[in-house]
Amino acid sequence: KGAVLVFHDITDLKRVEQMRKDFVANVSHELKTPITSIRGFSETLLDGAMEDEKLCKQFLDIILKESSRLQALVQDLLELSKLEKEELQLSKKMIHIDEWITNITTLIEQQANNKSISFKVNLEKGISFYGDPDRLQQVVLNLLYNGINYTAEGGEISLQISSDKDAVRIKVADTGIGIPEDSIHRIFERFYRVDRARSRNTGGTGLGLAIVKHIVEAHKGKIEVESEVNKGTTFTVILPKEW
Ligand code: ADP
Repeated sequence: KGAVLVFHDITDLKRVEQMRKDFVANVSHELKTPITSIRGFSETLLDGAMEDEKLCKQFLDIILKESSRLQALVQDLLELSKLEKEELQLSKKMIHIDEWITNITTLIEQQANNKSISFKVNLEKGISFYGDPDRLQQVVLNLLYNGINYTAEGGEISLQISSDKDAVRIKVADTGIGIPEDSIHRIFERFYRVDRARSRNTGGTGLGLAIVKHIVEAHKGKIEVESEVNKGTTFTVILPKEW
């Protein structure tokens, strides 16, 4: 029996080491792509493309977009490393949903509007519970932004919050592209994307859901996902009221 245990430990160790290597390789790749493009377009501009005003603007737009991606990536990486440190301190407060939600709805209404996506909110009045208000806002915003990103114009996203004696349930649903069954168990992994090109186009870092999962678990909660390709996706966050 002891031998079996030792064997397990070694495979676990190898697995962790492999994950670490994959992570470093992923980060390097993700950083390299925008840097290569920023460098390339700057060089082309300096080599004479600047004389063509239209081209100049086009290249500068790319440079700006790629720098924004780089910034988002570095921000998400820092965030993730903070969350992964054991000493992560949540700043717990009583959250009154009705006030807490206005920040979220204001931001999302605008983004959804820009893409002609309708945004429905269904809120049970008077819910309050204990948690880190800023981190949980980040969770809901991330899920709603994904909803917008992965839903075509004319679609719908919705936010529903309800509670019972012990738990609060936050449901974020969309009528978007959905997630194939064979990918669904991987979407919380760092840098996993169903469609890399699509995620890059919408400015995604591939780290959003990994961050979401960390925050939810730090609250002793859990996150569930249901999805059907071309129909839509629903994420449900379940948070215990006391912990
Ligand atoms: P990204 O920055 O790529 O959106 P996330 O970690 O937020 O990274 O999500 C990981 C992947 O899960 C996405 O690339 C996408 O393939 C898939 N995904 C997440 N949310 C949705 C959604 N609402 N509908 C369809 N696919 C989604």
